Amino acid sequence: MVAESQPGHIDQIKQTNAGAVYRLIDQLGPVSRIDLSRLAQLAPASITKIVREMLEAHLVQETEIQEPGSRGRPAVGLMVETEAWHYLSLRISRGEINLALRDLSSKLVVEEQQELPLQSPQPFLERVIQHIDAFFIRHQQKLERLTAIAITLPGIIDTENGIVHRMPFYDDVKEMPLGEALESRTGVPVYIQHDISAWTMAEALFGASRGARDVIQVVIDHNVGAGVITDGRLLHAGSSSLVEIGHTQVDPYGKRCYCGNHGCLETIASVESVLDLTQVRMKQSMSSMLHQQPLTVEWLCQAALLGDLLAKDIISGVGTHVGRILAIMVNLFNPQKILIGSPFNLASDILFPAIGACIHQQSLPAYSKHIAVESTQFLNRGTMTGAALVKDALYNGSLLIRLLQG
Ligand SMILES: [Zn+2]
Repeated sequence: MVAESQPGHIDQIKQTNAGAVYRLIDQLGPVSRIDLSRLAQLAPASITKIVREMLEAHLVQETEIQEPGSRGRPAVGLMVETEAWHYLSLRISRGEINLALRDLSSKLVVEEQQELPLQSPQPFLERVIQHIDAFFIRHQQKLERLTAIAITLPGIIDTENGIVHRMPFYDDVKEMPLGEALESRTGVPVYIQHDISAWTMAEALFGASRGARDVIQVVIDHNVGAGVITDGRLLHAGSSSLVEIGHTQVDPYGKRCYCGNHGCLETIASVESVLDLTQVRMKQSMSSMLHQQPLTVEWLCQAALLGDLLAKDIISGVGTHVGRILAIMVNLFNPQKILIGSPFNLASDILFPAIGACIHQQSLPAYSKHIAVESTQFLNRGTMTGAALVKDALYNGSLLIRLLQG
């Protein structure tokens, strides 16, 4: 058994080392081989070998670095080579599909948003494949070598096997083998992740939580959910689990939720629920300025900022409901930072203090004292979420090894 598992073990070490070296070059480049050896804690001979393979595959390139103040021969530094490598980043959300080509530095080559109606006689998987095929045809002039496909979407997902068990909004999705279907069609690896988990990774890699070891990111949108980074790693990465705060009961007598329970946070704080509640309360408050325009999230937030009492009360109500659950999470995870990703962030001056007040009153003072509630850097649209999956697959070596093998 030991002999049999040996090659796999060596491959795993090679993959991990290559990923670690690539990460250092990507984050610090141009960087010398000597510095790489020191930072990666690998022998110079190992660095030489890994770098040689990456140079031959055109994943890194050499450049001259002139040390400041030195008059000697410039040293040779290494930088990643990213422009000739593209990947498809895909995001599916309520009623729409975003498709983008990015290069390996995550830079956008082209991005499009298309409608994906909630109801259709055509199966969901077929519709997605059609969108991808049409996108590739439209942009084949721009396409460099395709390395991977990254997909983020809401739902219950087996990320390991690329199977989407269920999706909100699209009722016909059941046990959809999305990963396998796309992999066999394109021959490139397919990475699938829940969009809130992927967004949490994106903020950690490129956005508002960069450098933080412990983070809670809460998304309040059509769905309500959270991503947790604990000691620098995404909680539940690689499994189908999500931090399901949206399905925590906040009102035992509340509305029935699609999950089967009653009064879940999502039935109270999701965008649709909040707009429904606002409609009901507007009937009892004829003096509210909300009556002046058709009700949207933007108008609700704007009215709240203009001092409308009903609008303010609705927004701080969202903050209080979310804050109560967050206070429990603070006691569990002791984060440095809490990020809120929501269209309600337009009224962050009202929303964030309401959330902060709950946390300060209801969680351990030693934990809550230093916590800042901040906005995510990215909005809940576009394809940065998929960029995080590809970056992660390069850094952990899994995608890198495939690219090295050609
Ligand atoms: Zn629920």
